[in-house]
Amino acid sequence: MTEYAKPVPVPDEDTAPFWEAARRHELAFQRCDHCGTYAHPPVRFCRGCHDVTEPSFGFATITPRGRIVNWTVIHDAMVQGFAGDAPWVHALVSFDDQPGLTFAATLIDGVGDGLKLGAAVEVVFKDVSRDVTLPLFKLA
Ligand SMILES: [Zn+2]
Repeated sequence: MTEYAKPVPVPDEDTAPFWEAARRHELAFQRCDHCGTYAHPPVRFCRGCHDVTEPSFGFATITPRGRIVNWTVIHDAMVQGFAGDAPWVHALVSFDDQPGLTFAATLIDGVGDGLKLGAAVEVVFKDVSRDVTLPLFKLA
């Protein structure tokens, strides 16, 4: 594997399970133990059941498919390491398992005819180092 020259995520206590799942090529989000509502990024109180007395969460895999609800085309690579990638597409996707739960990542297909609101996408995983795997999207 060649050296990855871009910034990589640094997991913390709240996000480590997400990145551990990504290394297994699984997409896992924080999920409420009471009502099953997923949250991303992780939250302190569930937006589904609003339990503020005994909030309890784990991480659970989600079906890695959804639809594009927004995107931006990045032309100006302002972060070191991305200069050769422009233009690229950063898509916001709502998941089939829980519409309204969104996640933003690069759409590897780039700008093209398939890039439109509501387009079906699925997650693909890119191992960028021994320790880091990035979830990305591709048109389904
Ligand atoms: Zn809940």
